[in-house]
Amino acid sequence: MNNLQAMDFEKNYDYWIFDLDNTIYDFNLGLFRRISQRMTIYIKDFFNLNHNEALELQKNMYKKYGLTLRGLIIEKKIDPEPFLQFVHDVDFDDLKIDNELKKLLSKIKGHKSIYTNASFNHAKNILTSMGIFEEFEIIFDIKDSNYIAKPDHNSYLMMKAKLGLNDKNINRSIFFEDTAKNLKPASELGMSTVWIENDFNRDEANILKEYINFTGSDIKSILSNMLNS
Ligand SMILES: [Mg+2]
Repeated sequence: MNNLQAMDFEKNYDYWIFDLDNTIYDFNLGLFRRISQRMTIYIKDFFNLNHNEALELQKNMYKKYGLTLRGLIIEKKIDPEPFLQFVHDVDFDDLKIDNELKKLLSKIKGHKSIYTNASFNHAKNILTSMGIFEEFEIIFDIKDSNYIAKPDHNSYLMMKAKLGLNDKNINRSIFFEDTAKNLKPASELGMSTVWIENDFNRDEANILKEYINFTGSDIKSILSNMLNS
């Protein structure tokens, strides 16, 4: 599963698809945690709840729908855009221009895309801060999937259509994710999958290991091994 140098990845894959948060940048930066904290604040203010009530609603929606926003749209009829704008309004000072990652990405000759449960603007902010926005052809965001999030199978079908994937070329695609459960539908559709190791998802990754083709500690070491550089 981990022998990343045993095959010719560039020859085998034409479509390289990357999750954004905690995949493209390091989990340990805590950026995603700050976004999550802003969700709690938004829910607290919007529904006039105390902190613990807001946190509970947030967690319940996440558990039930895989995405807090999805639950709030369905059960509470909230408008997604102001929510997304607020929660993603975090500072990106921790993110630095990453020339090493840029170099690795630029080596990939196939199509490169981002597939995220977050908004386009959030993706653009992050990728621009890291100096890699231009490396990606398509950013498939939560609006593109009608606010239906990974790991809902329907989200993947919309992503497939937008990225030009079909039954003939799906086996030429490879998908990188830190959230292990998001790899299962991708694998079932015929994509190759890469899990970015992290302790938060480790138990789930063990349960789902039949859906995970490759793993590695972080995106740069994985790409570096895959591209033999
Ligand atoms: Mg992620």
